[in-house]
Amino acid sequence: MQASTHSLAPQWSLGGDAGRVEPAAFKVYTQRDLDRIEALARLSEAQRFEMKVVSAVLPFRVNQYVIDELIDWRRVPDDPIFQLTFPQRGMLAPAHYERVAALLRAGADKDELARVVDAVRHELNPHPADQMEMNMPRDEEGHRLDGIQHKYRETVLFFPSQGQTCHSYCTFCFRWAQFVGDKALRIASSEAAVLHNYLRTHREVTDVLFTGGDPMVMKTAHLKNYLEPLLAPEFDHIRTIRIGSKALSFWPQRFVSAEDADELIHLFERVVESGKQLAVMAHYNHWKELDTEVAQAAIRRVRGTGAVIRAQGPLIAHINDDPAVWARMWQKQVELGIVPYYMFVERDTGARNYFEVPLVRAWEIYREAMQRVSGLARTARGPSMSASPGKVEIQGVTEVAGEKVIALRFIQGRNPDWVQRPFFARYDEEATWLNHLQPAFGERKWFWEDEYAAIRDAKLAAAD
Ligand code: SF4
Repeated sequence: MQASTHSLAPQWSLGGDAGRVEPAAFKVYTQRDLDRIEALARLSEAQRFEMKVVSAVLPFRVNQYVIDELIDWRRVPDDPIFQLTFPQRGMLAPAHYERVAALLRAGADKDELARVVDAVRHELNPHPADQMEMNMPRDEEGHRLDGIQHKYRETVLFFPSQGQTCHSYCTFCFRWAQFVGDKALRIASSEAAVLHNYLRTHREVTDVLFTGGDPMVMKTAHLKNYLEPLLAPEFDHIRTIRIGSKALSFWPQRFVSAEDADELIHLFERVVESGKQLAVMAHYNHWKELDTEVAQAAIRRVRGTGAVIRAQGPLIAHINDDPAVWARMWQKQVELGIVPYYMFVERDTGARNYFEVPLVRAWEIYREAMQRVSGLARTARGPSMSASPGKVEIQGVTEVAGEKVIALRFIQGRNPDWVQRPFFARYDEEATWLNHLQPAFGERKWFWEDEYAAIRDAKLAAAD
Protein backbone atom coordinates (compact mmCIF):
# COMPACT_ATOMS: atom_id res chain seq x y z
CA MET A 1 0.00 0.00 0.00
CA GLN A 2 1.36 3.41 -0.86
CA ALA A 3 1.81 5.81 1.99
CA SER A 4 -0.71 8.63 1.99
CA THR A 5 1.92 11.33 2.05
CA HIS A 6 0.97 12.52 -1.41
CA SER A 7 1.47 16.24 -1.64
CA LEU A 8 -1.59 18.29 -2.50
CA ALA A 9 0.51 20.38 -4.84
CA PRO A 10 0.43 18.81 -8.29
CA GLN A 11 3.91 17.62 -9.26
CA TRP A 12 3.82 18.10 -13.00
CA SER A 13 3.45 20.79 -15.53
CA LEU A 14 0.82 20.82 -18.20
CA GLY A 15 2.37 23.66 -20.10
CA GLY A 16 3.19 27.25 -19.32
CA ASP A 17 6.06 28.15 -16.95
CA ALA A 18 8.17 25.31 -15.70
CA GLY A 19 6.58 23.61 -12.69
CA ARG A 20 3.28 25.45 -12.97
CA VAL A 21 0.02 23.73 -13.73
CA GLU A 22 -2.18 25.43 -16.24
CA PRO A 23 -5.73 24.48 -15.32
CA ALA A 24 -7.39 23.68 -18.63
CA ALA A 25 -10.91 25.00 -19.07
CA PHE A 26 -13.55 22.34 -19.57
CA LYS A 27 -15.25 23.10 -22.87
CA VAL A 28 -18.03 20.80 -23.96
CA TYR A 29 -20.20 20.43 -27.08
CA THR A 30 -23.63 18.83 -27.39
CA GLN A 31 -25.98 18.24 -30.31
CA ARG A 32 -26.87 21.92 -30.56
CA ASP A 33 -23.19 22.81 -30.95
CA LEU A 34 -22.23 20.40 -33.73
CA ASP A 35 -21.73 23.28 -36.17
CA ARG A 36 -19.37 25.00 -33.74
CA ILE A 37 -16.87 22.14 -33.64
CA GLU A 38 -14.11 23.44 -35.88
CA ALA A 39 -12.58 20.03 -36.48
CA LEU A 40 -15.79 18.86 -38.16
CA ALA A 41 -15.40 21.46 -40.92
CA ARG A 42 -13.25 18.91 -42.77
CA LEU A 43 -16.24 16.57 -43.12
CA SER A 44 -18.83 16.88 -45.87
CA GLU A 45 -22.19 18.53 -45.27
CA ALA A 46 -23.87 15.17 -45.76
CA GLN A 47 -21.75 13.62 -43.00
CA ARG A 48 -22.55 16.47 -40.65
CA PHE A 49 -26.26 16.09 -41.39
CA GLU A 50 -26.04 12.37 -40.56
CA MET A 51 -24.52 13.30 -37.21
CA LYS A 52 -27.40 15.65 -36.51
CA VAL A 53 -29.93 12.93 -37.26
CA VAL A 54 -28.28 10.35 -35.04
CA SER A 55 -27.63 12.78 -32.21
CA ALA A 56 -31.29 13.77 -32.23
CA VAL A 57 -31.95 10.25 -30.90
CA LEU A 58 -28.82 9.13 -29.08
CA PRO A 59 -27.02 11.39 -26.63
CA PHE A 60 -24.00 13.31 -27.88
CA ARG A 61 -21.48 15.21 -25.81
CA VAL A 62 -17.78 15.68 -26.40
CA ASN A 63 -15.18 17.93 -24.85
CA GLN A 64 -12.26 19.83 -26.30
CA TYR A 65 -9.64 17.58 -24.70
CA VAL A 66 -11.07 14.54 -26.50
CA ILE A 67 -11.22 16.48 -29.77
CA ASP A 68 -7.70 17.88 -29.51
CA GLU A 69 -5.75 15.15 -27.75
CA LEU A 70 -7.43 11.80 -28.31
CA ILE A 71 -8.79 11.87 -31.85
CA ASP A 72 -6.41 11.58 -34.78
CA TRP A 73 -8.33 13.67 -37.31
CA ARG A 74 -6.25 12.36 -40.19
CA ARG A 75 -7.89 8.98 -39.61
CA VAL A 76 -11.49 10.20 -39.33
CA PRO A 77 -14.04 8.62 -39.69
CA ASP A 78 -12.19 5.39 -38.83
CA ASP A 79 -10.34 6.78 -35.85
CA PRO A 80 -11.46 4.72 -32.81
CA ILE A 81 -11.95 7.67 -30.47
CA PHE A 82 -13.96 9.48 -33.16
CA GLN A 83 -16.16 6.38 -33.37
CA LEU A 84 -16.31 6.30 -29.58
CA THR A 85 -17.62 9.83 -29.25
CA PHE A 86 -19.14 11.07 -32.52
CA PRO A 87 -22.46 9.81 -33.94
CA GLN A 88 -22.32 7.72 -37.13
CA ARG A 89 -25.17 7.01 -39.49
CA GLY A 90 -25.00 3.23 -38.98
CA MET A 91 -25.82 3.67 -35.30
CA LEU A 92 -29.50 3.92 -36.19
CA ALA A 93 -31.39 1.26 -38.10
CA PRO A 94 -32.18 2.53 -41.65
CA ALA A 95 -35.91 2.85 -40.89
CA HIS A 96 -35.27 4.83 -37.70
CA TYR A 97 -32.70 6.98 -39.47
CA GLU A 98 -35.06 7.81 -42.33
CA ARG A 99 -37.94 8.71 -40.01
CA VAL A 100 -35.88 11.27 -38.14
CA ALA A 101 -33.94 12.51 -41.20
CA ALA A 102 -37.18 13.21 -43.09
CA LEU A 103 -38.44 15.39 -40.26
CA LEU A 104 -35.17 17.31 -39.99
CA ARG A 105 -35.04 17.86 -43.75
CA ALA A 106 -38.61 19.13 -43.73
CA GLY A 107 -37.91 21.45 -40.81
CA ALA A 108 -40.60 19.72 -38.71
CA ASP A 109 -41.74 21.49 -35.60
CA LYS A 110 -40.20 20.65 -32.24
CA ASP A 111 -43.16 18.70 -30.87
CA GLU A 112 -43.49 16.45 -33.86
CA LEU A 113 -39.77 15.72 -33.85
CA ALA A 114 -39.84 15.02 -30.13
CA ARG A 115 -42.74 12.55 -30.57
CA VAL A 116 -40.92 10.56 -33.25
CA VAL A 117 -37.59 10.65 -31.42
CA ASP A 118 -39.29 9.43 -28.29
CA ALA A 119 -40.91 6.54 -30.15
CA VAL A 120 -37.58 5.53 -31.70
CA ARG A 121 -35.84 5.63 -28.32
CA HIS A 122 -38.41 3.32 -26.81
CA GLU A 123 -37.73 0.82 -29.58
CA LEU A 124 -34.05 0.73 -28.61
CA ASN A 125 -34.48 -1.25 -25.37
CA PRO A 126 -33.54 1.69 -23.14
CA HIS A 127 -33.22 -0.38 -19.94
CA PRO A 128 -31.59 -3.69 -20.78
CA ALA A 129 -31.42 -6.63 -18.37
CA ASP A 130 -34.63 -5.57 -16.57
CA GLN A 131 -32.77 -2.91 -14.62
CA MET A 132 -35.84 -0.88 -13.77
CA GLU A 133 -38.05 -3.78 -12.74
CA MET A 134 -35.68 -6.23 -11.13
CA ASN A 135 -32.77 -4.41 -9.56
CA MET A 136 -34.32 -1.48 -7.76
CA PRO A 137 -35.11 -2.24 -4.14
CA ARG A 138 -38.19 -1.03 -2.23
CA ASP A 139 -38.75 0.19 1.30
CA GLU A 140 -41.13 -1.49 3.79
CA GLU A 141 -44.10 0.33 2.25
CA GLY A 142 -43.18 -0.90 -1.21
CA HIS A 143 -41.93 2.44 -2.53
CA ARG A 144 -39.10 2.15 -5.00
CA LEU A 145 -35.80 3.51 -3.67
CA ASP A 146 -34.70 5.75 -6.50
CA GLY A 147 -31.04 5.77 -7.30
CA ILE A 148 -30.21 2.36 -5.83
CA GLN A 149 -29.74 -0.97 -7.60
CA HIS A 150 -29.19 -4.13 -5.60
CA LYS A 151 -28.79 -7.10 -7.89
CA TYR A 152 -26.08 -9.19 -6.23
CA ARG A 153 -26.13 -9.85 -2.48
CA GLU A 154 -22.85 -8.15 -1.59
CA THR A 155 -22.86 -5.17 -3.96
CA VAL A 156 -25.07 -2.08 -4.09
CA LEU A 157 -24.98 0.39 -6.96
CA PHE A 158 -25.77 4.00 -6.24
CA PHE A 159 -26.56 6.64 -8.87
CA PRO A 160 -26.01 10.09 -7.32
CA SER A 161 -28.14 12.60 -9.20
CA GLN A 162 -25.26 15.09 -9.54
CA GLY A 163 -23.25 12.40 -11.32
CA GLN A 164 -25.69 11.46 -14.06
CA THR A 165 -23.77 12.94 -16.94
CA CYS A 166 -20.25 12.32 -18.28
CA HIS A 167 -17.37 14.48 -19.48
CA SER A 168 -18.12 13.09 -22.94
CA TYR A 169 -20.59 10.42 -23.96
CA CYS A 170 -19.65 7.09 -25.47
CA THR A 171 -21.67 6.38 -28.57
CA PHE A 172 -22.28 2.79 -27.43
CA CYS A 173 -23.26 3.68 -23.88
CA PHE A 174 -25.66 1.12 -22.39
CA ARG A 175 -26.87 3.76 -19.96
CA TRP A 176 -27.68 6.19 -22.78
CA ALA A 177 -31.26 6.46 -21.56
CA GLN A 178 -29.91 8.29 -18.50
CA PHE A 179 -28.84 11.18 -20.70
CA VAL A 180 -31.75 11.91 -22.99
CA GLY A 181 -33.77 14.00 -20.58
CA ASP A 182 -36.62 11.49 -20.27
CA LYS A 183 -37.35 11.29 -16.54
CA ALA A 184 -39.11 7.96 -16.90
CA LEU A 185 -35.88 6.46 -18.21
CA ARG A 186 -33.68 7.92 -15.50
CA ILE A 187 -32.27 6.28 -12.39
CA ALA A 188 -30.91 8.76 -9.86
CA SER A 189 -31.06 9.95 -6.29
CA SER A 190 -29.86 13.13 -4.67
CA GLU A 191 -30.52 11.70 -1.25
CA ALA A 192 -27.37 10.63 0.52
CA ALA A 193 -29.69 9.62 3.36
CA VAL A 194 -31.48 7.09 1.13
CA LEU A 195 -28.19 5.33 0.46
CA HIS A 196 -26.98 5.47 4.04
CA ASN A 197 -30.29 4.22 5.49
CA TYR A 198 -30.34 1.37 3.04
CA LEU A 199 -26.79 0.32 3.84
CA ARG A 200 -27.39 0.62 7.58
CA THR A 201 -30.05 -2.07 7.37
CA HIS A 202 -28.31 -4.28 4.80
CA ARG A 203 -25.34 -5.71 6.65
CA GLU A 204 -24.77 -8.32 3.93
CA VAL A 205 -23.53 -5.56 1.61
CA THR A 206 -19.74 -5.24 1.52
CA ASP A 207 -19.28 -3.19 -1.67
CA VAL A 208 -20.82 0.07 -2.80
CA LEU A 209 -20.38 1.19 -6.38
CA PHE A 210 -20.97 4.84 -7.16
CA THR A 211 -21.93 4.99 -10.77
CA GLY A 212 -23.75 7.06 -13.36
CA GLY A 213 -23.16 8.72 -15.73
CA ASP A 214 -19.87 9.46 -14.09
CA PRO A 215 -19.66 10.35 -10.39
CA MET A 216 -16.44 12.23 -11.17
CA VAL A 217 -18.43 15.02 -12.84
CA MET A 218 -19.64 15.86 -9.32
CA LYS A 219 -18.01 18.52 -7.27
CA THR A 220 -15.83 17.00 -4.56
CA ALA A 221 -18.10 18.58 -1.94
CA HIS A 222 -21.02 16.45 -3.19
CA LEU A 223 -18.96 13.31 -3.33
CA LYS A 224 -17.88 13.96 0.26
CA ASN A 225 -21.51 13.99 1.41
CA TYR A 226 -21.93 10.49 0.09
CA LEU A 227 -18.56 9.05 1.06
CA GLU A 228 -17.59 10.54 4.40
CA PRO A 229 -20.47 9.12 6.44
CA LEU A 230 -19.49 5.66 5.19
CA LEU A 231 -16.22 5.96 7.10
CA ALA A 232 -18.08 5.86 10.46
CA PRO A 233 -17.97 2.61 12.51
CA GLU A 234 -21.66 1.85 11.83
CA PHE A 235 -20.63 1.15 8.21
CA ASP A 236 -17.79 -1.21 9.08
CA HIS A 237 -19.49 -3.89 6.96
CA ILE A 238 -18.78 -1.79 3.85
CA ARG A 239 -15.28 -2.91 2.98
CA THR A 240 -14.92 -1.53 -0.53
CA ILE A 241 -15.99 1.70 -2.12
CA ARG A 242 -15.88 1.62 -5.88
CA ILE A 243 -16.26 4.58 -8.20
CA GLY A 244 -17.13 3.80 -11.79
CA SER A 245 -15.64 6.51 -13.99
CA LYS A 246 -14.30 7.40 -17.39
CA ALA A 247 -12.82 10.68 -16.20
CA LEU A 248 -9.26 9.28 -16.29
CA SER A 249 -9.80 9.03 -20.01
CA PHE A 250 -12.25 11.78 -20.97
CA TRP A 251 -11.14 14.49 -18.53
CA PRO A 252 -8.04 13.51 -16.54
CA GLN A 253 -7.72 17.16 -15.54
CA ARG A 254 -10.41 16.32 -12.98
CA PHE A 255 -7.69 14.73 -10.84
CA VAL A 256 -4.83 17.14 -11.48
CA SER A 257 -5.85 20.70 -12.19
CA ALA A 258 -9.59 21.07 -11.52
CA GLU A 259 -10.46 23.61 -8.87
CA ASP A 260 -11.25 20.93 -6.33
CA ALA A 261 -8.80 18.27 -7.53
CA ASP A 262 -6.66 18.56 -4.39
CA GLU A 263 -9.72 18.19 -2.19
CA LEU A 264 -10.70 15.10 -4.16
CA ILE A 265 -7.28 13.54 -3.73
CA HIS A 266 -7.43 14.31 -0.03
CA LEU A 267 -10.86 12.62 0.18
CA PHE A 268 -9.48 9.52 -1.52
CA GLU A 269 -6.62 9.47 0.97
CA ARG A 270 -9.03 9.63 3.90
CA VAL A 271 -11.06 6.72 2.56
CA VAL A 272 -7.91 4.63 2.19
CA GLU A 273 -6.64 5.66 5.64
CA SER A 274 -9.95 4.52 7.14
CA GLY A 275 -8.98 0.97 6.17
CA LYS A 276 -11.46 0.54 3.34
CA GLN A 277 -10.47 -0.39 -0.15
CA LEU A 278 -11.06 2.41 -2.63
CA ALA A 279 -11.28 1.18 -6.20
CA VAL A 280 -11.61 3.44 -9.21
CA MET A 281 -13.32 1.28 -11.83
CA ALA A 282 -11.85 3.03 -14.82
CA HIS A 283 -13.55 2.66 -18.15
CA TYR A 284 -11.06 2.31 -21.03
CA ASN A 285 -11.73 1.32 -24.63
CA HIS A 286 -8.43 1.94 -26.34
CA TRP A 287 -4.75 2.39 -25.49
CA LYS A 288 -4.89 5.90 -26.97
CA GLU A 289 -6.74 7.00 -23.88
CA LEU A 290 -3.68 6.11 -21.78
CA ASP A 291 -1.13 7.90 -23.90
CA THR A 292 -1.36 11.58 -23.03
CA GLU A 293 0.82 13.23 -20.42
CA VAL A 294 -2.13 14.47 -18.41
CA ALA A 295 -3.83 11.03 -18.45
CA GLN A 296 -0.70 9.47 -17.00
CA ALA A 297 -0.32 12.25 -14.44
CA ALA A 298 -3.91 11.65 -13.29
CA ILE A 299 -3.28 7.90 -12.95
CA ARG A 300 -0.15 8.55 -10.86
CA ARG A 301 -2.01 10.95 -8.64
CA VAL A 302 -4.95 8.61 -7.99
CA ARG A 303 -2.60 5.70 -7.29
CA GLY A 304 -0.62 7.94 -4.95
CA THR A 305 -3.63 8.02 -2.62
CA GLY A 306 -3.52 4.24 -2.18
CA ALA A 307 -6.63 3.76 -4.33
CA VAL A 308 -6.53 0.89 -6.80
CA ILE A 309 -7.43 1.52 -10.42
CA ARG A 310 -9.13 -1.39 -12.18
CA ALA A 311 -9.75 -1.15 -15.90
CA GLN A 312 -12.84 -2.38 -17.66
CA GLY A 313 -14.66 -1.76 -20.90
CA PRO A 314 -16.67 -3.40 -23.63
CA LEU A 315 -15.42 -5.02 -26.80
CA ILE A 316 -16.91 -2.98 -29.62
CA ALA A 317 -16.87 -3.11 -33.38
CA HIS A 318 -15.31 0.00 -35.02
CA ILE A 319 -13.38 0.79 -31.83
CA ASN A 320 -11.46 -2.14 -30.38
CA ASP A 321 -12.46 -5.40 -32.11
CA ASP A 322 -8.82 -6.29 -32.59
CA PRO A 323 -6.62 -8.41 -30.30
CA ALA A 324 -3.65 -6.09 -30.90
CA VAL A 325 -5.59 -3.14 -29.44
CA TRP A 326 -6.53 -5.07 -26.29
CA ALA A 327 -3.04 -6.50 -25.84
CA ARG A 328 -1.45 -3.07 -26.12
CA MET A 329 -4.06 -1.55 -23.81
CA TRP A 330 -3.68 -4.21 -21.09
CA GLN A 331 0.10 -4.09 -21.27
CA LYS A 332 0.09 -0.31 -20.99
CA GLN A 333 -2.32 -0.45 -18.06
CA VAL A 334 0.00 -2.79 -16.20
CA GLU A 335 2.95 -0.46 -16.88
CA LEU A 336 0.97 2.39 -15.38
CA GLY A 337 -0.04 0.37 -12.32
CA ILE A 338 -3.64 -0.30 -13.38
CA VAL A 339 -5.17 -3.75 -12.94
CA PRO A 340 -6.94 -5.05 -16.11
CA TYR A 341 -10.27 -6.28 -14.77
CA TYR A 342 -13.01 -6.92 -17.33
CA MET A 343 -13.69 -7.21 -21.03
CA PHE A 344 -17.46 -6.84 -21.45
CA VAL A 345 -19.73 -7.83 -24.29
CA GLU A 346 -21.63 -4.87 -25.75
CA ARG A 347 -25.14 -4.81 -24.27
CA ASP A 348 -28.42 -5.31 -26.08
CA THR A 349 -29.50 -1.68 -26.19
CA GLY A 350 -29.14 1.56 -28.13
CA ALA A 351 -26.87 1.42 -31.18
CA ARG A 352 -26.13 -2.21 -30.47
CA ASN A 353 -26.38 -3.38 -34.11
CA TYR A 354 -23.52 -1.11 -35.06
CA PHE A 355 -21.24 -2.15 -32.25
CA GLU A 356 -21.93 -5.79 -31.52
CA VAL A 357 -19.34 -8.51 -32.00
CA PRO A 358 -20.48 -12.17 -32.11
CA LEU A 359 -19.71 -14.01 -28.87
CA VAL A 360 -17.46 -16.55 -30.57
CA ARG A 361 -15.43 -13.79 -32.23
CA ALA A 362 -15.30 -11.89 -28.93
CA TRP A 363 -13.77 -14.93 -27.26
CA GLU A 364 -11.24 -15.32 -30.10
CA ILE A 365 -10.18 -11.69 -29.68
CA TYR A 366 -9.89 -12.13 -25.91
CA ARG A 367 -7.84 -15.29 -26.32
CA GLU A 368 -5.49 -13.84 -28.94
CA ALA A 369 -4.97 -10.71 -26.83
CA MET A 370 -4.23 -12.82 -23.73
CA GLN A 371 -1.68 -14.84 -25.66
CA ARG A 372 0.24 -11.66 -26.47
CA VAL A 373 0.60 -10.26 -22.94
CA SER A 374 2.62 -11.22 -19.90
CA GLY A 375 1.10 -12.85 -16.83
CA LEU A 376 0.46 -9.61 -14.96
CA ALA A 377 -1.81 -8.39 -17.75
CA ARG A 378 -3.84 -11.62 -17.75
CA THR A 379 -6.06 -10.50 -14.91
CA ALA A 380 -8.89 -9.33 -17.18
CA ARG A 381 -11.96 -11.56 -17.14
CA GLY A 382 -14.13 -11.95 -20.10
CA PRO A 383 -15.72 -11.67 -22.46
CA SER A 384 -18.55 -11.17 -19.99
CA MET A 385 -22.24 -10.45 -20.58
CA SER A 386 -24.06 -8.48 -17.90
CA ALA A 387 -27.37 -10.23 -18.53
CA SER A 388 -30.42 -10.26 -16.32
CA PRO A 389 -29.68 -13.66 -14.68
CA GLY A 390 -26.10 -12.61 -13.96
CA LYS A 391 -22.67 -11.92 -15.37
CA VAL A 392 -21.97 -14.72 -17.81
CA GLU A 393 -18.46 -15.30 -19.11
CA ILE A 394 -17.67 -17.00 -22.38
CA GLN A 395 -14.98 -19.46 -21.39
CA GLY A 396 -14.28 -20.83 -24.80
CA VAL A 397 -15.25 -22.99 -27.72
CA THR A 398 -14.63 -26.69 -27.37
CA GLU A 399 -15.92 -30.13 -28.26
CA VAL A 400 -17.61 -32.39 -25.73
CA ALA A 401 -18.75 -35.91 -26.66
CA GLY A 402 -18.54 -35.04 -30.35
CA GLU A 403 -20.59 -31.83 -30.07
CA LYS A 404 -19.07 -28.42 -30.73
CA VAL A 405 -20.11 -26.18 -27.84
CA ILE A 406 -19.55 -22.82 -26.21
CA ALA A 407 -18.49 -23.16 -22.57
CA LEU A 408 -19.97 -20.58 -20.21
CA ARG A 409 -19.97 -19.78 -16.50
CA PHE A 410 -21.55 -17.30 -14.14
CA ILE A 411 -19.10 -14.81 -12.65
CA GLN A 412 -22.06 -13.37 -10.71
CA GLY A 413 -25.57 -14.72 -10.46
CA ARG A 414 -28.93 -13.76 -9.02
CA ASN A 415 -28.49 -16.95 -7.03
CA PRO A 416 -24.91 -17.15 -5.69
CA ASP A 417 -25.11 -20.93 -6.06
CA TRP A 418 -24.93 -20.57 -9.85
CA VAL A 419 -21.54 -18.88 -9.68
CA GLN A 420 -18.60 -20.79 -11.24
CA ARG A 421 -20.73 -23.72 -12.44
CA PRO A 422 -19.76 -24.40 -16.06
CA PHE A 423 -22.58 -24.84 -18.56
CA PHE A 424 -22.68 -25.32 -22.29
CA ALA A 425 -24.41 -23.78 -25.28
CA ARG A 426 -24.72 -25.14 -28.78
CA TYR A 427 -22.03 -23.66 -31.02
CA ASP A 428 -23.41 -20.56 -32.73
CA GLU A 429 -21.19 -18.22 -34.70
CA GLU A 430 -23.81 -15.52 -35.03
CA ALA A 431 -25.06 -15.18 -31.45
CA THR A 432 -24.27 -11.86 -29.83
CA TRP A 433 -26.09 -12.22 -26.49
CA LEU A 434 -27.14 -14.84 -23.99
CA ASN A 435 -30.72 -15.01 -25.22
CA HIS A 436 -29.51 -16.03 -28.70
CA LEU A 437 -27.87 -19.18 -27.31
CA GLN A 438 -29.46 -22.61 -26.91
CA PRO A 439 -28.45 -25.25 -24.37
CA ALA A 440 -26.15 -27.93 -25.78
CA PHE A 441 -26.54 -31.74 -25.67
CA GLY A 442 -30.23 -31.65 -26.56
CA GLU A 443 -31.17 -30.07 -23.20
CA ARG A 444 -34.35 -28.02 -23.33
CA LYS A 445 -33.43 -25.60 -20.55
CA TRP A 446 -30.47 -24.03 -18.84
CA PHE A 447 -29.78 -25.41 -15.37
CA TRP A 448 -30.70 -22.02 -13.88
CA GLU A 449 -33.72 -21.26 -16.03
CA ASP A 450 -36.63 -22.31 -13.75
CA GLU A 451 -35.12 -20.66 -10.73
CA TYR A 452 -34.43 -17.47 -12.65
CA ALA A 453 -38.03 -17.42 -13.94
CA ALA A 454 -39.31 -17.71 -10.37
CA ILE A 455 -37.03 -14.89 -9.16
CA ARG A 456 -38.10 -12.73 -12.08
CA ASP A 457 -41.82 -13.36 -11.54
CA ALA A 458 -41.50 -12.49 -7.89
CA LYS A 459 -39.65 -9.23 -8.64
CA LEU A 460 -42.04 -8.19 -11.38
CA ALA A 461 -45.03 -8.92 -9.15
CA ALA A 462 -43.50 -6.74 -6.44
CA ALA A 463 -42.91 -3.98 -9.00
CA ASP A 464 -46.58 -3.85 -10.06
S1 SF4 B 1 -18.57 7.02 -19.59
FE1 SF4 B 1 -19.89 5.26 -19.10
S2 SF4 B 1 -21.85 6.15 -18.52
FE2 SF4 B 1 -20.67 7.75 -19.58
S3 SF4 B 1 -21.28 7.63 -21.70
FE3 SF4 B 1 -19.48 6.32 -21.48
S4 SF4 B 1 -20.28 4.28 -21.07
FE4 SF4 B 1 -21.93 5.73 -20.70
